[in-house]
Amino acid sequence: MSFLEIQDVTHSYFSKQSKTTALIDVSLSIQEGEFISFLGPSGCGKTTLLSIISGLIEPTIGHVLLENEKVTGTNKKTGYMLQQDYLFPWKTIEENIFIGLKLTKQLNEKTKQNTITLLEKMGLKNVSKQFPSQLSGGMRQRVALVRTLATNPKLLLLDEPFSALDFQTKLKLEDLVFSTLKQFQKTAILVTHDIGEAIAMSDRIYLFTNRPGTVHRVFHVPDELR
Ligand code: ADP
Ligand code: ADP
Repeated sequence: MSFLEIQDVTHSYFSKQSKTTALIDVSLSIQEGEFISFLGPSGCGKTTLLSIISGLIEPTIGHVLLENEKVTGTNKKTGYMLQQDYLFPWKTIEENIFIGLKLTKQLNEKTKQNTITLLEKMGLKNVSKQFPSQLSGGMRQRVALVRTLATNPKLLLLDEPFSALDFQTKLKLEDLVFSTLKQFQKTAILVTHDIGEAIAMSDRIYLFTNRPGTVHRVFHVPDELR
């Protein structure tokens, strides 16, 4: 049994007038320590699958197993990082990170120390007492990553975390995120529509298409592309 198993997942969104089926019969498995990309155009169900893996939404059919346990809601094993940083503007960088820990009842000496180490690693130590508005977009995304990592989740879900950044910042941050996650041996899933980003960052790519029946074409990144 793999670290993460997605088994026969189908998901539809229902409204009064219509039904949109975002995913049909998706099965895939991910090993511990792997860095996976979900690659595909807008609207093909990548975010839906990420939300199902995180436990934020329940699939219409099928289920997700994380370390052999069925995912039935949000849980401490999984950290979710989004395109926007959602930092509180009136809190300092450090306070923003501690809030995440407090909310999940994990604020203690160990996680505080972990945060400080991560801030150093991300080159943010000197700005930890500053406010989000004083930081560039790339720095704020680094803060968001520290906040996600501070609770020490086993699985990281990254939904287009680089897409709002300028090209140079994006390249630097991709590098930093990749080396940090590999260093800590995290399992990660990156959602992206950028094939270069998927190739640069992942061990394996799942290719999503807009044809629901063919959602989970997978291809392996050839070594010569790295
Ligand atoms: P991405 O995740 O690729 O950035 P978006 O979140 O903007 O894309 O949404 C992808 C597609 O899903 C768009 O076509 C958007 O209109 C649709 N969508 C997103 N949220 C909703 C919603 N609450 N109701 C209906 N359609 C939605
Ligand atoms: P992606 O992340 O690949 O852009 P999504 O998972 O956001 O794709 O969307 C997949 C499909 O589900 C799209 O057709 C989108 O319009 C639809 N969808 C996404 N979220 C909602 C929602 N909350 N309500 C209704 N339809 C949605």
